[in-house]
Amino acid sequence: NPVLELAGVAKTYNMGKPNAVQVLQAIDLTVQPGEIVALVAPSGAGKSTLLHIAGLLDTPDSGSVKICGADMVGQSDRKRTAVRRSDVGFVYQFHHLLPEFTALENVMLPQLANGIARAEAQARAADLLCRVGVEPRADHRPAALSGGEQQRVALCRALANEPRLLLADEPTGNLDPETSDHVFDTLMGLVRGTGLSALIATHNMDLAARMDRVLRMDKGVLTSV
Ligand code: ADP
Ligand code: ADP
Repeated sequence: NPVLELAGVAKTYNMGKPNAVQVLQAIDLTVQPGEIVALVAPSGAGKSTLLHIAGLLDTPDSGSVKICGADMVGQSDRKRTAVRRSDVGFVYQFHHLLPEFTALENVMLPQLANGIARAEAQARAADLLCRVGVEPRADHRPAALSGGEQQRVALCRALANEPRLLLADEPTGNLDPETSDHVFDTLMGLVRGTGLSALIATHNMDLAARMDRVLRMDKGVLTSV
């Protein structure tokens, strides 16, 4: 089964009102196991809406959304939340780490929320931080970390519950070019090493070219490059 399968996904905001805006038009998109797909889109193209629908944070007006073969449209909120928590990891342009918790605790929290025992959550968080080179900073709070370290910790948090799919919205967009390259290398290494699939939105064509496949989005329509 594909890890993510969107078919005929359409979305209009403010449907039926004078300010209605059709943001997605019949989007078909498939991500296979282990595949890393780039999503390149100008601002306003509908990229965030697409990622939110793929990650079950939003619902389409029509079309189907399948995660690992299971249809998610029409499922209860409870079921969608359960699938999101276990199968999907998110990384954004800004790290959104909780400021009052350490790096280690930030990576433990989603696991604890998923019912994983404290010792196991801690071991897995430490292992992830080690793999991205932030282990020496594990006991620091986000404010004490560099921008690159913050994004590495955010990546670890996204992978903490061993998702099948990573959704990333400009994950290195807030970093200087050199740091961006390093964090991107780390991201690619970690994704390849764990065999998960990823859909990664970026404005950076050099980064996009290093993924398995590039999709371009404009005015709510996807085209392969
Ligand atoms: P991108 O991430 O490509 O910049 P978005 O998916 O955020 O694009 O938004 C696409 C368009 O839809 C934009 O014009 C945006 O203002 C509009 N939009 C996004 N979310 C909403 C919403 N909840 N209500 C109304 N308009 C929205
Ligand atoms: P992110 O910053 O996470 O990529 P967005 O900028 O697209 O996401 O939007 C953040 C939140 O604000 C989303 O829930 C989205 O639906 C909402 N939103 C975005 N644009 C608009 C808009 N023009 N009107 C109303 N809500 C919007």
